[in-house]
Order: sequence, then structure tokens, then C-alpha cells
Amino acid sequence: MRAAMYYANDDVRIVDVPKPKIGAGEILVKVRASGICGSDVMEWYRKPKAPLVLGHEIAAEVVEVGAGVDRIEVGSRVFVSHHVPCGACRYCLAGHETVCDTLRTTNFDPGGFAEFVRVPAINVKHGVFALPSGVSDEEATFVEPLACVIRGQRLADLRPGGTVLVIGSGVAGLLHVKLAKASGAATVIATDVVEFRKAAATKAGAEYVIDGREDVPSKVKETNEGRLADLVVTCTGAAKAIAQGFASVDRGGTILLFAPTEPAAKIVIPFNALWREEVTVISSYGGSPRDVRDAIELLAGKRIAVGDLITHVLPLASAKEGFQLVARALDSIKVILRP
Ligand SMILES: [Zn+2]
Ligand SMILES: [Zn+2]
Repeated sequence: MRAAMYYANDDVRIVDVPKPKIGAGEILVKVRASGICGSDVMEWYRKPKAPLVLGHEIAAEVVEVGAGVDRIEVGSRVFVSHHVPCGACRYCLAGHETVCDTLRTTNFDPGGFAEFVRVPAINVKHGVFALPSGVSDEEATFVEPLACVIRGQRLADLRPGGTVLVIGSGVAGLLHVKLAKASGAATVIATDVVEFRKAAATKAGAEYVIDGREDVPSKVKETNEGRLADLVVTCTGAAKAIAQGFASVDRGGTILLFAPTEPAAKIVIPFNALWREEVTVISSYGGSPRDVRDAIELLAGKRIAVGDLITHVLPLASAKEGFQLVARALDSIKVILRP
């Protein structure tokens, strides 16, 4: 079968690899659509493990079912989680499923940028979700990123009527804008430095869009009756933008650290200001099965529309072009490959 082998953002090769064979408890799926994630083009994160087949935002069709698998039928359309929690360790029981050791060591084989994917037994048990017919293959590539965003906002305890500031308007930022609107935020403000993304933030429902090169906290006050934001979500690894986020949280507010920085980046935080203002600093990583179920429900009920975020649907053969579009981040939002 064909697969896109990742070496670097500008070196993604279409190669022939053996079609995976499944064993008892496993299933084989044919990938119908596979989204390129912002994390796929973070070279500091991916290159040390290269060469490898990436892709974890998939819509697929079940084509083979191993012995002992009874609740999944050949021919059904599914979303499959690449990482699944054990559901039983102290972290899982405390609601922190995404820091579970099992979640961090599970994966499907070889990755979503391939024609077929073998789903190991533990993923079959905890990570296969039926896709309703109203959710298209392309829309289903948003299940994983939307699950991460749902998790973040749930942990941040977003209250209806509040003001939300989203720093960085890539796919994650735009999903945060949409979810905040759907969850009853009174005002959503977004930032970015790229015109294309600023326009996308307006389309996604942000009432105000601030250029990240401006004085962001002052601009937030100007648009928010003199107050800073109740919830700030940082969706970029740019140190300067994260600092803007820390400077834009209102008293008693929350800052959700959603995106990683480069490993060597140092972020200076206004410690005493945060202390005196009772600001809550939280982070979120990934999504749990509960977040995935919520994401599918929101997409199926059309409470979150994602069609406007899709800028490119390419064949697997154009994987390299797709990676470069996402890495450049100038004229694309969501790029989807169809193996
Ligand atoms: Zn992702
Ligand atoms: Zn666990």
C-alpha cells in the first residue's frame, strides 16, 4: 500500500509499505480522509522520530475485523483515536486521562497518511467511534482537534456571558472561537498576525480581531468596556503572543495554555500581578474518549460547523505540498489528505 513517509516538512515521500496484517481483537480500516495537524509540522517534535508515517485526524471505513471483535462491523465509517487511556490508573480516575501512561504509549499502525491502518486491540476497545451519516469524511477529520478544544474549555470552566480572548487563529484557535460562541460566551476576541487568518477569525464568529503586532491588552480593553478578558486561550507557540495572553487576563480570570512552545523557549510571566489578581493558570493536552464523543455530537448536530475551515483537500500523492502549506501557515487553514 502507499503511505506518506515523513522525514521533514519539506521532505515527505510517497513510499510503498506492506499492508498491515491484523490479529485477534484488532481491526483494519481504510483511511478516507486524514487531516494535517499543526503538531505534524512542529519539526522539533516530529523530526527526532523520523522517518515515520504521521496522521491522527482520520475518517475511515472498517474493512477487516479480527477474531473476538463483535461490536464493529465491516463497512461502517469510524473515527479512530491514535492514543487511548487505560481508564483505570490514578490519572484516569482523577479525570486526567491525557497524562495516562497508556495514552502516551498507544498508537495505530502505521499512521493516518496511509491507505490502511491497523487498529490494535486496546484502541479497538477504547478508541473506535461510529461516525453519524450527517458527518462527512472531511468534517470527521475535525473530531480529534475539536475534542482537544472541548477538553481545554471544559477544564477552563468557561462561564456563559464572559469575554474570551483567543491568541492565534490557526485551526485550534478558530475551533476555540466557534466553541466559545456555541457555549454562550458574550464576546469573543481573536488575534493573529496573518491577514488570511484574521479574516478567518471574523468568519468563525469573533466579534473583534486584533493584529498581534498591536498592543493587545489595550485593544482588548477598548473593545470590552475597559476590562480585560475572563478567559484567555493561547493557541500559538510564539513567546511574545503568550506574553500578550498573560497581560490580557482580567482579575479572577483564567488563562488556558493550549499550544506548546519550542522546547528552549523561555516565557516570562508577571508573577505578582497573577498572584494579586487571583488568576487561574491551566493547561490542557489532547482529548479523552469523553471529549471525542462530545466532538462527534457537536459536529453531527451542526452546533459547530467546520466546512469554512477547510482550505485544501489533496490526494495522498500531494502530501509534501500539504505539509508545506501547513508549515507556511500563510494561505491555508485546514489541509486534508485523501489516501
Ligand atoms: Zn491534531
Ligand atoms: Zn490511565
